[in-house]
Amino acid sequence: MLSQLDLDTTISRLAYEISNDVADLDPVFVGILKGSLIFMSDLIRQLDFPLTTDFLSVSSYQGTTSTGLVRILNDVAHPIANRHVILVEDIVDSGQTLHHVIAHLRLKNPASIRICSLLDKTARRITPVAISYIGHQFADGFVVGFGMDYRGYYRNLPYVGLIKDAN
Ligand code: 5GP
Repeated sequence: MLSQLDLDTTISRLAYEISNDVADLDPVFVGILKGSLIFMSDLIRQLDFPLTTDFLSVSSYQGTTSTGLVRILNDVAHPIANRHVILVEDIVDSGQTLHHVIAHLRLKNPASIRICSLLDKTARRITPVAISYIGHQFADGFVVGFGMDYRGYYRNLPYVGLIKDAN
């Protein structure tokens, strides 16, 4: 679906957009593991202003189906009170993961929360989420690669591929 060149171009654009908004705000980039691992590492290397990083991990998917039950497995390691947070996500589908994570992070009193997602899968949105920075939108289908998995595999693919007949 997205070649290495597509991904490079997309991430450069996102880095430009994010830089315009938060370069002077000393932001903290919070990656949602494990899917955002590769996206986050490529993205922050294109940013040349002071920033810090943190991660949290969640689980909700079994195979290719969202369970709708989002659990925080590991929380951010550092305080985010009064910080400008950029939440970095690989893909938004139902929106439930982000809805849950945002509610969780708001309790820590950040100055702001912006969302950056490499992919926005629109067809099955249940909970609306305002995504400030979107790499690509597509309707439906299960994608893998560039950090995204199918049953734990394919995260290492350097491109994004669509799984045929996923279930
Ligand atoms: P949501 O809670 O929005 O339904 O799902 C978000 C999470 O589900 C993403 O962070 C990702 O981990 C997983 N996810 C959703 N769609 C896909 C997909 O097409 N491929 C992969 N590998 N993961 C997905």
